[in-house]
Amino acid sequence: MDFAQLPHPAPVPGESRAQAIADPGFGSVFTDHMVTIDYHADHSGDLGGWHDARIGPREALSLDPACAVLHYAQEIFEGLKAYRHPDGSFALFRPYENARRLNQSAERLAMPTLPEDLFVEACRQLVLKDRDWFPDIEGGSLYLRPFMFASEAFLGVRPAREYKFIVIASPVGNYFKSGVPAVSIWVSQDYVRAAPGGTGAAKTGGNYAASLVPQAEAIAKGHDQVVFLDAVERRWIEELGGMNLFFAFADGSVITPPLGGTILPGITRDSLIALLRDEGLTVREERYAIDQWRADAESGRLVETLACGTAAVVTPVGKVAGPDGGFTIGSGGPGQLAGKLRDRLVGIQKGTQPDPHGWVVRL
Ligand SMILES: *Cc1c(COP(=O)(O)O)cnc(C)c1O
Repeated sequence: MDFAQLPHPAPVPGESRAQAIADPGFGSVFTDHMVTIDYHADHSGDLGGWHDARIGPREALSLDPACAVLHYAQEIFEGLKAYRHPDGSFALFRPYENARRLNQSAERLAMPTLPEDLFVEACRQLVLKDRDWFPDIEGGSLYLRPFMFASEAFLGVRPAREYKFIVIASPVGNYFKSGVPAVSIWVSQDYVRAAPGGTGAAKTGGNYAASLVPQAEAIAKGHDQVVFLDAVERRWIEELGGMNLFFAFADGSVITPPLGGTILPGITRDSLIALLRDEGLTVREERYAIDQWRADAESGRLVETLACGTAAVVTPVGKVAGPDGGFTIGSGGPGQLAGKLRDRLVGIQKGTQPDPHGWVVRL
């Protein structure tokens, strides 16, 4: 599919852009352009399937008040970063995994799938178009947010027949303000994120909407993030609102909760499993209980807990506030494994370290 190139009448002037990307924070600065592809369920004629791929000015959308996404929340998204390599070129990290996951989310939400090559091409076009927005700062990258939503104006309850797939880009620095050595997390007792048979494995806005109250509760109690337990026994550790977890033990082994429909299959999670195994460490995808977590932290059997995701990469967990009071993991600060994994992963992404798994896609 060819992408129509729509001219931008008024891109942000170079000086304002330089100012905006000097210290962009996370998710509040946006580039000049966006990619849009439309979908119509009628496969006969020119408007059938995915059509009208275009890259043009980033601009407000005009939606009918009956637009299906506003009522029944058929919406899914992805998150991946473009990195700059030492030779000045740009690269994406495992973008075909994001494409595949978007399609898995689409299937769960009764939405159309998008050809994987089209997903990656949309990301590639946007990065190259807005390359001047890349923040050349420590930890800087161009965060891409591909998303799809039901755009049909219709109030009946059924899968919509019209969708939009859009990619926007945001220059970002580090997700957590620098100076946060390890995060403190709150174990939610009143709320769950996902239940068996639900949408926990899909990257859909509704999961985030449901996590905002428990996340606000964590902040109100003085913690950084909320961790969710399973919905059935309220005992097994699942994940944070937007990050997967790893537990590292003194004997060198590592546990991460198994995927099973209630956990988001993180690409960082999958990459860390591979990197840990490269190091010769034993990684088990195995359920881990909240009471065991506390007991292991207190006995010293557990030495580190880390949270991971594209946005915040690898983030050490220092303190946990559980149902029976708080406990500290290791020294309460960042551990060795977290630092090592982070350096290894970022090294691959930025092209400063070998990429034995062929994860990096040069643009
Ligand atoms: C996106 C996301 C993650 C992390 O996935 P990555 O592919 O590693 O960025 C973890 N948990 C949830 C709920 C997410 O939405």
